Amino acid sequence: MPQGIAASRGIGIGSVCRIIEHELKFENKKIEDTAAEKNRLQEAVEKFKAETTEMAEDIRQRIGKKEAEILEGHLVMISDPAMVGEMDKMIDNKQCAEAAVTAVCDMFINMFSSMDDEMMKQRASDISDIKTSLLKILLNIHDIEISKVAPGTVLVAKDLTPSMTSQIVKENVAGIITEIGGKTSHSAILARALEIPAVLSVPDALNLVKDNDTAIVDGTEGEIFINPAGDVLSTYIRKREDFIRKQEELKKFLGKETLTADGKKLDLFCNIGTPKDAKKAVECDGEGIGLFRSEFLFMNNSHLPSEEEQFNAYKEAVETMGGKTVIVRTLDIGGDKDIPYLNLTKEDNPFLGYRAVRYCLDNADMFKTQLRSIIRASAFGKIKIMLPLVTCVDEVRQAKALVEDIKKDLENEGIPFDKNIEVGCMIETASASLIADLLAKEAAFFSIGTNDLTQYTMSVDRGNPKVAYLYSAFQPSVLRSIRHIIQCANEAGIPVGMCGEAAADPLMIPLLMSFGLDEYSVNPVLVLTARCIISKWTKEEADKLADKVMAMDTEKEIVEALKKAAKD
Ligand code: PEP
Ligand code: MG
Repeated sequence: MPQGIAASRGIGIGSVCRIIEHELKFENKKIEDTAAEKNRLQEAVEKFKAETTEMAEDIRQRIGKKEAEILEGHLVMISDPAMVGEMDKMIDNKQCAEAAVTAVCDMFINMFSSMDDEMMKQRASDISDIKTSLLKILLNIHDIEISKVAPGTVLVAKDLTPSMTSQIVKENVAGIITEIGGKTSHSAILARALEIPAVLSVPDALNLVKDNDTAIVDGTEGEIFINPAGDVLSTYIRKREDFIRKQEELKKFLGKETLTADGKKLDLFCNIGTPKDAKKAVECDGEGIGLFRSEFLFMNNSHLPSEEEQFNAYKEAVETMGGKTVIVRTLDIGGDKDIPYLNLTKEDNPFLGYRAVRYCLDNADMFKTQLRSIIRASAFGKIKIMLPLVTCVDEVRQAKALVEDIKKDLENEGIPFDKNIEVGCMIETASASLIADLLAKEAAFFSIGTNDLTQYTMSVDRGNPKVAYLYSAFQPSVLRSIRHIIQCANEAGIPVGMCGEAAADPLMIPLLMSFGLDEYSVNPVLVLTARCIISKWTKEEADKLADKVMAMDTEKEIVEALKKAAKD
């Protein structure tokens, strides 16, 4: 039975649909009947227009007007007579339609991408999309339309990109299996947000299955079964029912405070990526937003979002939360989070490179636009600023100086904002952990990012399946680091939260309670599970367990001991 990474809990059972990326290869043959070839091109263009119009309409209804406008722009471009005219000229020179499309599109792509203007650069990526679509039509390649799969489908793909995920209709997708991606990859985070069971990093998954095979996806244990025997199938149907029943039972925690078994109140916040997710946080009874991953505003866009666009997004989130805290993390790009239109140079070690707060401090205009929009939104609720990937005190000081400049400007312009807006930082690098005492003097609060803290402490790429066995927040080094950070924050008297995925791990929660963590920020769908676990432990019991496991030598021993002590 194939094994992978348990990325999104629950049991999914359904029929396989493979998503295969085709190579767009063609033979560059000389054309004799050029009139027929021009006709073939014209038919492909008409088909492209019809499909694009239909897709734009679908996206307009399901997602929004702005997203549909990107596709409508493609229609305008392909309708420009210069474009098809150039292709026709190449066919007159005996080139095939595929070669004509490739050459003409590449010419426009080169032209637009060499321009300085951001809008023009974006045109290059639009034309690249048009080229791919036209070639697929000419080569008769049919992509699976993820938005149209039948109910009870298990999607199997090499990787699940954010654009694929945005097409998923939750009711129709029973499970997800991929060949790459780790527990904290963004595809995993999105699968959890959609509450679809997912097992990632299954070696050679696409070759293990055929379309229409029956698959079981056990997203809790990280196991998959293909065409299972009758008894296995009935066991998993039962497990699925159990899981659903337990989820129902958790509803008794809705509307309740988050209290430990001995009555201490803890904060249970949510991680979100878009202002719309804030609604989900409210529905799931989150008590605030501990992490608004602002890079999704940049990633789900075709251009750098303006101050006004960002301001509206932060304002919407803060208003949705109705006075509860919203912690906006400033742009955290680089590493596994690419934004194509920023044209970042490829680096040998992107996780150790030009990214997050480093990129922002070096691109001060862009950073100030973001900070200004967050600070303006602070007039509409309780908002805090959080810096990602901090490694030294200077970074916090520099960012705080920019915040002060912006506050002065806003004051002079008579624009309202919260004068006491706090600037805190994520502690997610080994360096930040080691100097947590120094950072605690500069930052108004900490939030521990265990996804990266594990990566940087263990020197293990968080998305690499080959070294995934080392990637665990239960490694003694990571646990010591977490304990140390919390201790430094407590000693300095600043609040400390955790927004990495470990904050929702039932095995981790008692340890965090013992270490003295104040705020737990989790995926909205895990709020009630976390509240339930917290309600089962007293500080005394948690301390006893922490004393025991913190004296252990290996991750394996620690996880075993925690599993044994777990309260169901
Ligand atoms: C983290 O690193 O733990 C974190 C919350 O941030 P991200 O997963 O977005 O890097
Ligand atoms: Mg991080």
